[in-house]
Amino acid sequence: MLAQRLPSILPPLAPKELLEVSMIASVAGELGEGKLTDRRPFRAPHHSASMAAMVGGGMRARPGEVSLAHHGVLFLDEFPEFTPQTLDALRQPLETGDCMIARANHRVTYPARIQLIAAMNPCRCGMAGEPGYRCLRGERCRTDYQARISGPLLDRIDLRIEVPAVSAGDLIRPDRSEKSAAVALRVARARTIQRERFERLGVTSATTNAHWPHPSGRSDFLSHELGAGGAGGVEALARARQT
Ligand SMILES: [Zn+2]
Repeated sequence: MLAQRLPSILPPLAPKELLEVSMIASVAGELGEGKLTDRRPFRAPHHSASMAAMVGGGMRARPGEVSLAHHGVLFLDEFPEFTPQTLDALRQPLETGDCMIARANHRVTYPARIQLIAAMNPCRCGMAGEPGYRCLRGERCRTDYQARISGPLLDRIDLRIEVPAVSAGDLIRPDRSEKSAAVALRVARARTIQRERFERLGVTSATTNAHWPHPSGRSDFLSHELGAGGAGGVEALARARQT
C-alpha cells in the first residue's frame, strides 16, 4: 500500500529521462499507441516472475522488469518468495545502474537505474512478533525465511523498516497524515536544490546523489557542500564504512 503510493510523490520525468523510459518501453513493445507520459514507471512483477522476465532475455533480448522500471520504482512484494536466481540477478543492476543480457553471439545492455522497494513478512506464517503469538515452527520460522535474502543483496538496500500490524483502533482514528501532493512539493524542492548544487559543480549527468558519477568524488562533493568542517565528518563516514 505504502509502496504503491510512492509514484504520487515522485517528480515528473525530465525530458531526457522521458526519452530513455520511452525507448525501453518501445523495445519491449509496451508503448501503448505511441503515447508518452512523464509519470515515473512503477513495476510490480509477481514473485513467480522468471529471471528472464526480471532482468531481460529471451530470443530477442527483451528488456526485463528492472529496465522497464528505469527512472522509477521496482516494487517486489513477498520478497523472499522470488527464486534465489532471480534475486541474485538483481545485484548487478542495483550496483551499476544497468543490466547486461548476454546471448550466444551478442550482448545487450539496457539502463536500469531504479528505486527498489521490497516488502516481506517477518516469517513464513507472517505472524512472528505479534503480541501473544508463537510460530508453530518456533524461531526457525523467522530465521529460515529471512535467510532467503542473501547478505550481498541486503547490503544493497539502504533503508530497512519494520512496520507493525495495523490495529482496529488505527483504522477508526481520524486521518492526520500528510497528503501526497504536499509531500510531492517537498520532493520537487529537494530535487531543485540538488540540481542547482550539481550545476554549480558542472555536473550534468546526475540529478540525485545516488547517480553521482564518480564514487571517489562523492567525499569531495560532500566536503564542498558541508563547508570546512565537512571533510572530517566525511572521512569518519568513509572509515566507518570500511570497518
Ligand atoms: Zn512464523
